[in-house]
Amino acid sequence: MKEWNIETMAVQAGYRPKNGEPRVMPIVQSTTYKYDTCQDIADLFDLKASGHMYSRISNPTVAVFEEKMAALEGGVGALALSSGQAASTLAVLNICQAGDHFIALSTLYGGTFNLFRHTMKKMGIEVSFVDPAAPAEEIKKVFQPNTKLIFGESLSNPGTEVLDFAKFSAISREKGVPLIVDNTFPTPYLCRPFEHGADIVVHSTTKYIDGHATSVGGIIVEGGKFSWDNGKFPDLTEPDPTYHGLSYTKNFGENAYIVKARVQWVRDLGCYMTPQNAFLSNKGLETLHLRMERHSENALALAEFLERHHKVKWVKYPFLKNDANYQLARKYLKAGSGVLTFAAAGDSSEAEKVMDSFKLAERVVHVADVRTSVLHPASMTHRQLNHKEQLKAGVTPGLIRVSVGIENIVDIIKDFEQALAKI
Ligand code: PLP
Repeated sequence: MKEWNIETMAVQAGYRPKNGEPRVMPIVQSTTYKYDTCQDIADLFDLKASGHMYSRISNPTVAVFEEKMAALEGGVGALALSSGQAASTLAVLNICQAGDHFIALSTLYGGTFNLFRHTMKKMGIEVSFVDPAAPAEEIKKVFQPNTKLIFGESLSNPGTEVLDFAKFSAISREKGVPLIVDNTFPTPYLCRPFEHGADIVVHSTTKYIDGHATSVGGIIVEGGKFSWDNGKFPDLTEPDPTYHGLSYTKNFGENAYIVKARVQWVRDLGCYMTPQNAFLSNKGLETLHLRMERHSENALALAEFLERHHKVKWVKYPFLKNDANYQLARKYLKAGSGVLTFAAAGDSSEAEKVMDSFKLAERVVHVADVRTSVLHPASMTHRQLNHKEQLKAGVTPGLIRVSVGIENIVDIIKDFEQALAKI
């Protein structure tokens, strides 16, 4: 599959039916799998053999989706989960435990910010948020002997800040910790974080991967190049008593991280993706390349329209030529994806008026599906954050986030024109 281009992988990777088998991978709606001998099952329990045993840990339909996502990202393996939140949680817990510390960018999605700041703290894991624009030397000072990873978004939600991969991957290399990148907004079609120094990729597959707003899901993908044996990650290198003293790095090599996440964390927490959701997410992937091109094309056209509109204070979209992220966007992204933010003239009450006036765009707590949708982060997704935290995450009171769909751009622009005419 490595010789295929990304569009071909989006359609065909992960499933090559044998003679007489279904052309489309069916939904294997079975919790369990039959084996001929006790020894067969014992070998699965001991991780000596590979195969499906119980659908809390793996399933053939989900495996097809995992394999396709690993191929698209250029990774060595993937683990599909019940949500993007589950993916971020396990990506961190897999290498951080009580007493550990990690570094995250302050521009993260509000739900991830909460998870890291508050919930992980209750588990004894401390996080330091850093300004993505801070100089490398300043960021390095935040490191402690127990710092285990750096976490950022390739294109932040909702601020659409592009990750400075060169800076953050150099810091993570120097400090011997992995760079974990949430690649939800660009998808592997527009950005491949492993090519720019990331070590682990996570996604909320709920967004563009599914693309049709049908299935909540998440995934972790392992790049396969990080050296876990630098003394900082004994959980990966030392014997695991729950598998008769097996060591993940010794037994699974470049797949150590992803195997451990599956056989320890998904085994114990049980947050695996369902076969139905994997089927639908895989259907979404089949048109990923076509959709991402249209989302990006429409978003750029809408951003340019808003930029010229006299009732718009500012517009933020990474492929606008005067956007602060334009150079980074051109370096790391194939196109800008479908999300932009803007502020209408006036204060937040004007923003609400515009929000309530949209007719084609819908007000929903979602982003990144085929339908154009709008959201007011300050009163919706980021409402748990205090005002200062909101500003740090790039959320100003009047900011409207637009997820530009794949409808005809003329109709989308007409809708924004009439909504802005109401203020
Ligand atoms: N990461 C990003 C960038 C997101 O936008 C979201 C949700 O909006 C998540 C993670 C969490 O994903 P989920 O809603 O699938 O749990």
